Amino acid sequence: MTITLIDDVVEVAKIAKRIQVAGEFAIDLEFVSEGRYIPDLALMQLAWRESGKVATAIIDCVNVDASEAAKLVADDTLATVIHSGRQDLQLLHQKFGVVASNIFDTQIAAAFLGMGEQLGLAKLLAAMVSVKVDKSQQFTKWTKRPLTAKQLDYALSDVLHLLDVSDMLQNQLDQRGRRTWCDDEAQSLIAVSTSQTDPETAYLSIRGHQSLKPKSLGALAKLAALRANIVAETNQPPSWVIGDKSMIEACRRLTTSASAIGNIRGVKPNAIKRWGKEMAKAIEHGKSEPIDIGRISQDVLSPEQQSLSSILVGIVAVQCAEEEIANRFVATKKQIDKLTSWATSNVDKPQPDLPVLSGWRLELVGQALLDFLAGKIAIVYRDGALRFSS
Ligand SMILES: [Zn+2]
Repeated sequence: MTITLIDDVVEVAKIAKRIQVAGEFAIDLEFVSEGRYIPDLALMQLAWRESGKVATAIIDCVNVDASEAAKLVADDTLATVIHSGRQDLQLLHQKFGVVASNIFDTQIAAAFLGMGEQLGLAKLLAAMVSVKVDKSQQFTKWTKRPLTAKQLDYALSDVLHLLDVSDMLQNQLDQRGRRTWCDDEAQSLIAVSTSQTDPETAYLSIRGHQSLKPKSLGALAKLAALRANIVAETNQPPSWVIGDKSMIEACRRLTTSASAIGNIRGVKPNAIKRWGKEMAKAIEHGKSEPIDIGRISQDVLSPEQQSLSSILVGIVAVQCAEEEIANRFVATKKQIDKLTSWATSNVDKPQPDLPVLSGWRLELVGQALLDFLAGKIAIVYRDGALRFSS
């Protein structure tokens, strides 16, 4: 089969029409992200069903505006099938302003069916439809033209079987009554992939910020905001401007000269040449607006609390293994730490608003955690496994 790249806007529109008639389609993107904050989109691969067969197309996003096809993802009358779609949905949002609507992510579905967390597409295809993907082309620089037949073939294999696999996974989810769980998770995937980082609060997602004193944290808030703005302007990866660790160190030292920031390990001389003065100014400014660390660091656990948290994490793991579901969908370590600090606080505080304490997660795991914390159930090792006993 010869695959031709679509580089004509009229053709793109025609394909979009055909997909609209089909009602369901699979999509995958190839892009180049090296040295870019927002990756360069190279290809958009599409698959849909037409008169009982799978039809496919690859759009050459380097040479044609693919927005008519990108819009399909936002159409709530269409079902979009994708595998591990976070990055793809993020890129569609950044490049075309598209907010996805009706998404079925086969990687999420697999995690709800006991096939493992973050299962790769090749493994999924092998397991569900016995298709072996030739991975030799995966490191292709996708923006290069022309692409070889082998490369196009590989790109197409990412969507070719996805609709069949999606049908099978949806059946299994229905059988186990987990379809709505999967849809819930797809919704949060959409939320994550379309959320913009607010420069003002960027510092809160920098690892190690909790360890800084108020003045240093104030400095980090300004420095992180500056970096976010530089990244948005220049489309360079954040670490090319200044890495997280270097930022923390500069703020710990309250370094207020460009050259002193430049002396911190990992800081690139070029970056200091371009933005060193602004960085120094940001730290200087932030120093005068300290941020109270007590407020943010309340979740730092004592050794006793850490032990309790580990046991709760264990309970989550036991329940998830039993129910064949990936842990990370149920509760993260961070959330369990929050639960621990609530359960061990002497003050009468309302139950924290955590996913694990509502909806299907409460049913699956949350109730067991609450019962354990209330001393109603114990966890014992018996017959080769951890079990609950009342
Ligand atoms: Zn791909």
